[in-house]
Amino acid sequence: MNTSVERLVRPNRYEGLNLISLPVWVFDLDHKRVLWANEAAVALWNSPSLHELCWRDMGADMSASVRRRLAQYQSDFVAHDATFNEQWTLYPAGQPLPMNVSLRGHLLEDGRMAMLCEARPSAVAEPESLRSVEALLHTAVMISLYDPHGCTLYRNPAARSSVHRLDERLDERFVDPAAYPQLMRLLADSGMATQTLAVRTAQGERWHEISVRRCKDAVTGGDAMLVSEADVSILKRTEARAQFLALHDALTGLPNRSQVMQRFDEAVGRIGDLGEQAALLFIDLDHFKNVNDTLGHAAGDALLVEVARRLRTAVRNSDLVARLGGDEFLLLLVGPDILHEVERVRARLMNALAEPMSLLGQSVHITPSVGVALYPQDGQNVDTLLRNADLAMYSAKERGRNDLAFYDAGMSEALNNRTSLEADLRLAFEREEFEVHYQSIVDVASGRTVGAEALVRWRHPERGMIPPDVFIPVCEGNGSIRNLGRIVFNAAARQQVAWAAAGHVLKVAVNLSPRQLRDPELLADLKAALQSSGADPRWLQLELTESMFLGRDPAVLALLNDIQTLGLGLSLDDFGTGYSNLAYLQQFPIQTLKIDRSFVQCLDVNRPVAELIVAMCRLMKLGVVAEGVETTEQLAWVRAQGIAQSQGFLHSRPLPAAAFTALVVVDCVAR
Ligand code: C2E
Ligand code: CA
Ligand code: CA
Repeated sequence: MNTSVERLVRPNRYEGLNLISLPVWVFDLDHKRVLWANEAAVALWNSPSLHELCWRDMGADMSASVRRRLAQYQSDFVAHDATFNEQWTLYPAGQPLPMNVSLRGHLLEDGRMAMLCEARPSAVAEPESLRSVEALLHTAVMISLYDPHGCTLYRNPAARSSVHRLDERLDERFVDPAAYPQLMRLLADSGMATQTLAVRTAQGERWHEISVRRCKDAVTGGDAMLVSEADVSILKRTEARAQFLALHDALTGLPNRSQVMQRFDEAVGRIGDLGEQAALLFIDLDHFKNVNDTLGHAAGDALLVEVARRLRTAVRNSDLVARLGGDEFLLLLVGPDILHEVERVRARLMNALAEPMSLLGQSVHITPSVGVALYPQDGQNVDTLLRNADLAMYSAKERGRNDLAFYDAGMSEALNNRTSLEADLRLAFEREEFEVHYQSIVDVASGRTVGAEALVRWRHPERGMIPPDVFIPVCEGNGSIRNLGRIVFNAAARQQVAWAAAGHVLKVAVNLSPRQLRDPELLADLKAALQSSGADPRWLQLELTESMFLGRDPAVLALLNDIQTLGLGLSLDDFGTGYSNLAYLQQFPIQTLKIDRSFVQCLDVNRPVAELIVAMCRLMKLGVVAEGVETTEQLAWVRAQGIAQSQGFLHSRPLPAAAFTALVVVDCVAR
């Protein structure tokens, strides 16, 4: 649009435009209608009158891409006072009419931005070039022409919509300042270059695949660069996520096993030269399954995320912290004095996890079992070291958990034993190799046996007696715990009846594991056992652990109430080792609390806590049993506390039923 036209437009509104022989019209971008046209334009649009033309709905069959383009023009006019010269194909009477159209913004009296258009007949063009022009205007690919200094010569609408300023130079586009010179070097070397680069656009930072090739400017004949850009941000993000996930754990964001493999080789490569050593620490959370079982998987996940965070804070930035899966984590430490380093980290690790975590309003205390394998002495490659650290971790668990153990060669043998043990366990049920032993529970005041705890053992044909701590976790894992539970409860119920018939009225306690409490058949199993044995449920008691009450699962409470309705007693085992929230436990139908042997045995440290627990039990009218009483001093303390019942090696070890009966008979005779 030349300036003479502009001068005419402003003062006299549009009338003066009639003097121009070229078609000129004002287009309402919002309503897609012609607001005014000169006579030449009325003729161009093949309209009988200006009135008719102004009533035409130009938006009626307008494509979405044309609408987008018009909106783009409008914002370019508002933002940049831009002018465009474009080749348009008009369809005045349904027939295509190629024209060169000049477009510029025109502010209406109501403040809206309209478009002033002036058309010149276009030189007769080949259909091919007409179509290519159309394609250029409609495509989502951003196409721009720059001069050799990166100044803009042309942009198609898609390119215009992506820049901040219409006169933006090519070098201003890239986020990385090194990208432009590099692109220019490639262009100079081979005449074209394609790269995926981060660019600044009007829509924010995006990833574009950019192709640049050398060409000539068709207008001046000078050197130019043709740049085409496609937005590949979505692709790039997916790719980045995929790359991240390949080397990280999705839940905690920590490196995963694959990354450990990679980083270990790097670390080992470095330390060989420096004469340093490395340590792999295999960390497994104790009783994590209880949290998952009782509080649900979401709480379990939250706990893992928190543990990941705490592990990170316990080590240096250069140390690798990874999650191997489940509740297994791994640390890779490197240093000149690796044993010292492991000791330092052990202290920090235990400290970091010591603070209880709050999950679903419950305060949960989690402890780790840690196995350590050292490089190079315990293994030359990461697979061997991982396996050995895992073995050491098992031995830390066997030592009572919340502990750290270093690998030694004997552990590999132990593993072989464990594997064959699992196979043998399946046969143990068929061969009826389980035995129930009984440990007496003594009335402190009279010294008489008033009850017995049923404790299961496995008489292995070659290995002899295997304690429950070794095989019960396996039964819990493979589902055979239900079967085992039935065997023990049945035996205990029959034994109670037999003793009662012989004149020994003893309360017999049977342990339940958390798994069993989630078994929908538990209640039916208990009923069936009571019926077939004819036992009086009042003389049978089930021992539960605190972790079973964690969470506010109403089903657990309902089940416990049902068990109580059967007439069975309930006691809380190992009290003090878990979550220890007495007030919370009050809502469950428990009659007896068994104070864990750690309180009875390490009196010095735990005495105040133990005494508080006993005092609270009295308040809550709970019966108390002290566990693990081994010495007369311990018994003296138990008595001084007014604890009613006592259990431990001092009174008797767990014994086979016959030996237990003999003990009780002697007990009776002695009185
Ligand atoms: P628990 O319920 O705490 O059982 C008491 C454990 O402490 C028994 O170990 C017993 O031998 C041991 N003990 C008793 N007095 C003393 C003492 O004075 N000093 C020391 N150091 N230990 C003492 P045991 O028989 O090896 O049982 C270990 C655990 O296995 C039991 O711990 C119980 O949680 C579980 N368990 C045993 N039988 C069954 C069963 O039939 N079903 C289930 N689900 N778990 C069982
Ligand atoms: Ca018990
Ligand atoms: Ca116990």
